[in-house]
Amino acid sequence: MGIDSETNRNGPCDLHQAVATWLREADIVVAFTGAGISTESGIPDFRSPGGVWAKYQPVYFDAFLASAEARHEYWRQKAEAHHDFVLARPNTGHEVLARWEAAGRLEAVITQNIDGLHQTAGSRKVLELHGTARQVTCLDCHARFEADEMVARFVAAEAVPDCPACGGDRMKHATVSFGQSLPPSLLQEAFALSKRAKVFLAIGSSLVVEPAASLPRTAKQYGAKLVIINRDATPQDGLADVVIRASIGATLEAIDRELAA
Ligand code: ZN
Repeated sequence: MGIDSETNRNGPCDLHQAVATWLREADIVVAFTGAGISTESGIPDFRSPGGVWAKYQPVYFDAFLASAEARHEYWRQKAEAHHDFVLARPNTGHEVLARWEAAGRLEAVITQNIDGLHQTAGSRKVLELHGTARQVTCLDCHARFEADEMVARFVAAEAVPDCPACGGDRMKHATVSFGQSLPPSLLQEAFALSKRAKVFLAIGSSLVVEPAASLPRTAKQYGAKLVIINRDATPQDGLADVVIRASIGATLEAIDRELAA
């Protein structure tokens, strides 16, 4: 493996410098983000203890389709989680990535997050592998609506809102549910980007769930420098050229400072 922040005697500054040098030289840089970048904005990691999934039984897609009770339970959980999204603002990590894209340093962000914070920060090319909780979609006519408005309707009426376009009763957040597969074209694009990347930044993801586990590996196989920034160890650390176990916002900001130097 490469160097990491715990064994590198010269401290993290050298790592930030090394990454900045690679970013300067690379023509295609891709960032891949997971829950860790958004926990710094106060959005709980759904998989962590105390997260929504630890508290509730998630509603599987089949059940959602099959029963009105399941749809109601789904909306009850979503309405509760929506509260966190409304309050959340992008943090330094999101902002640095948006700046790099605007400056032509970053090709795209591939994210596992559904909170829309990359776009709020100004990122334009964002592949949301798990969809977005900012919108609601009708499974019958595919019309899309702002989640804010639909959640407010649900809370006011204590009933799942019908589709304003077709009257259908299968309105669902535009996210990938348990038991629902990821959109194949989006996945294809994510893998294509990973293959072209000269630097692949894996940020705030435990890199356990597929396809998160495969994207960095693919990037590395195709010759990218792999940089992992995450608070905890990941199963891909051994593959990485650099591993930084520290705050994501502070780390990206430090790399940004090196870039400007
Ligand atoms: Zn509809």
